[in-house]
Amino acid sequence: MIDRERLERRAGELSRIAGRGTAVSRLGLSADEQRARELVSSWLAPRGAQVRRDAAANLFARLPGEGEAVLVGSHLDSVPEGGRFDGALGVLCAVEAVESLVDAKVKLRRPIEVVAWADEEGARFGVGLFGSTAAFGRLARGVGDRRDRDGTSIADALRALGERGDPSAARRDPKELAAYLELHIEQGPRLETAGVPLGIVSAIVGIYHARVSIHGRADHAGATVMTARADALAAASEIVLAVERIARSRLDSVGTVGEIAVRPGAKNVVPGECVFSLDLRAARDHDGLVREVLDTVTRIADARGVEASVDDLARVPATSLDSKIREVLRRATKSVGVDAPELVSGAGHDAQNPALSGVPTGMIFVRSTGGSHTPREFASIDDAALGAQALANAIKELAT
Ligand SMILES: [Zn+2]
Repeated sequence: MIDRERLERRAGELSRIAGRGTAVSRLGLSADEQRARELVSSWLAPRGAQVRRDAAANLFARLPGEGEAVLVGSHLDSVPEGGRFDGALGVLCAVEAVESLVDAKVKLRRPIEVVAWADEEGARFGVGLFGSTAAFGRLARGVGDRRDRDGTSIADALRALGERGDPSAARRDPKELAAYLELHIEQGPRLETAGVPLGIVSAIVGIYHARVSIHGRADHAGATVMTARADALAAASEIVLAVERIARSRLDSVGTVGEIAVRPGAKNVVPGECVFSLDLRAARDHDGLVREVLDTVTRIADARGVEASVDDLARVPATSLDSKIREVLRRATKSVGVDAPELVSGAGHDAQNPALSGVPTGMIFVRSTGGSHTPREFASIDDAALGAQALANAIKELAT
């Protein structure tokens, strides 16, 4: 049985690292994230785990065994002014699940590794899922040279943490792993609405990030008649609304323009240039969604006599999670009395990397309220304890 008081006490301890009230600002690859890793190490090392950090600052705590390992964990970093549960709860529950098996002297055949992935949020360097991408050999070349606003590169940040500065050296063979499990807060309202504490993730959406630049012509806002304009912001506005319309018209799709900049940016000048972000996600036909939006960008730009260029920043395919592991998680959640529904994750997760590398991968969602990436995000200790117990049951089934 998991120890609920221990779980609650440690959740409090962890939330105080770079935390203020219910807000947590524990950025990836920072000294704060490192302190959080040290705290997790201090829990598992006395239980006989071999603790190591890899070249991307991922933390692994391994209980020895035979054959391929069962890997279980999540991330310890947060967005600036984020909450206490996103990522952290998955590491806390993984630790608790493993310790409960040690406490109960359960004989496990396989090695068990608890992992805390580094810099999942990508808040500082713009590279989300950084640590898990590195560990599964999926980093784009030259990522170590990416810099934050102060000019510090990822390689510099890693060296400041005592690593050598080459995150690609974190690559490990996915064949060493029998399975990967991750528990995470849902970050959305579906479990709350359904009145169920736990869910099983069936798939993680495909994600496309791009920067779109519209080049029109800056002109005098009084002297330029309406028919003679090439207004970059008006074109961008039409595209923003088209993104909304297209995403609404397709199944399981969302589209967001979350950043926009206008140049030159004066009230009496027709906007000459507009740069905005695109975030397109879909569980089904993600490629079709991206294609339809990009075709529409071209069509609107042509019709308005402006030029559009699209800079692709990231494209992660939709990932369906392993059906056998889903069955294991179904039994594990049933055994704690929960009839867990299957859900598609609209947020990206570290679990995508092992899944895309062929490791049988599963995720448990814990009901959360108050949104996510905000100090209001919340999961109750009751729900977290159920999740940790289900995780322990799943680990036991996979490792014995
Ligand atoms: Zn997360």
